[in-house]
Amino acid sequence: MQNTLYNTPSASQIVKALERDELVMYYQPKVCLLTGNILGAEALVRWNDPHSRVLSPSVFLPQAEASGLLHDITVKLLDDVVEACVQVRRCAPEFSISLNVAPNDLISQTISSRISSYISGGSIEPSELQIEITESMVMDNFDVVLDELAVLNSMGIKVLMDDFGTGYSSIDRLSQMPFSALKLDQGVVRRMTTSSQNLNTVRSSVAMARELGMTSIAEGVESIEQYNILIATGCEQAQGFYISKPMPLNQFIDFVKDDPVFPSSQVGCVHQAVFNVLRYRKSLLDIAVCTALGKGKIAPSLTEARNAGAEHAFRAAEWYYGDGQLLSYHDSFRAVEAPLSKLNDLGNALHRELIAGRDINGQSARLREIDRCTTDIVSALQRLESVLLIELT
Ligand code: C2E
Ligand code: MG
Ligand code: MG
Repeated sequence: MQNTLYNTPSASQIVKALERDELVMYYQPKVCLLTGNILGAEALVRWNDPHSRVLSPSVFLPQAEASGLLHDITVKLLDDVVEACVQVRRCAPEFSISLNVAPNDLISQTISSRISSYISGGSIEPSELQIEITESMVMDNFDVVLDELAVLNSMGIKVLMDDFGTGYSSIDRLSQMPFSALKLDQGVVRRMTTSSQNLNTVRSSVAMARELGMTSIAEGVESIEQYNILIATGCEQAQGFYISKPMPLNQFIDFVKDDPVFPSSQVGCVHQAVFNVLRYRKSLLDIAVCTALGKGKIAPSLTEARNAGAEHAFRAAEWYYGDGQLLSYHDSFRAVEAPLSKLNDLGNALHRELIAGRDINGQSARLREIDRCTTDIVSALQRLESVLLIELT
């Protein structure tokens, strides 16, 4: 597609294109980096123009938006995506397809009410459809978008933040938004191989997504080198030309029927679990330290910190009892379970005691136990990491 060769189409040309059904969806697969399987696709609009050219959205979407036509386009494309979900379900019942929307689509509430009727009418399950919205657009329309995202969430529709890394969201704002995934912008992914600083941007975005309870998805993955680095960071999904270019629905269905399997490993997730466990220990120590300094008084903010600590433990446990279970055939994986569960109990007990105003001096045995459990978990996870590395070779 050579966008620059074409003049910007007029609003009336776009209206005609809509009437003639020339706007069609292409589908680009998303791969799970933990299993190597396809999970679904992103729907991307194309214009099959009267001269048999396939025009990219950058040629006509800006004009469509400026002329107030984008919303009509989204409504039409939503219908197409729902139909695609129905067809794809026959060969891949677990798949979901994501649709890109603009803030105005959400603000007008037409899209959410149409999705709601599709769900209540039984055309689709909420898990089959996802919504993508770009980071910068969200941040420019924060309050209104936030309300609509909550509505979509209440229907069970997952919302993905698109182009993460381009919109300057603060962690505070991010944690307020009900996103289920962060899609790392393709520029961020492309730069990842050019410096260790850029690689760290990807690593920390992946870690932050996990801490916020969100999935990380890398877009614009063009090479095996990028793909492998993403596995090593613990990123969970990838999308890009290395896997496949966007394609018409029938080709996407053929692609899925071939049941392609891509490289995968949980080695990056295991490493993240190590961090989550250490962070949990640190949050428990913080409570102990501040209680000691405050002469037995625990600050309310630390109660919250403790809850955040519980979240970290939960992240490690969430992985352990979720995707991690694929590794349950490894001894070192199973060795994590007992100390993980004990650590959680110890953390809860410590918190209870300190909240009740018990002296920190009485907690030293428990604190030693916390250290022992942490060490046991971390060393089992490190053994597992080495085993997984060997599996890769
Ligand atoms: P996006 O949602 O971030 O979509 C990803 C874009 O990256 C797509 O461009 C896709 O074709 C392209 N891409 C995917 N993998 C690679 C890769 O490995 N390398 C490179 N260089 N590019 C890759 P596309 O289809 O031209 O879409 C551009 C943007 O237009 C989309 O960015 C999205 O913001 C918007 N868009 C596309 N379809 C729709 C739609 O149906 N509705 C709305 N509102 N916006 C759409
Ligand atoms: Mg997108
Ligand atoms: Mg994107």
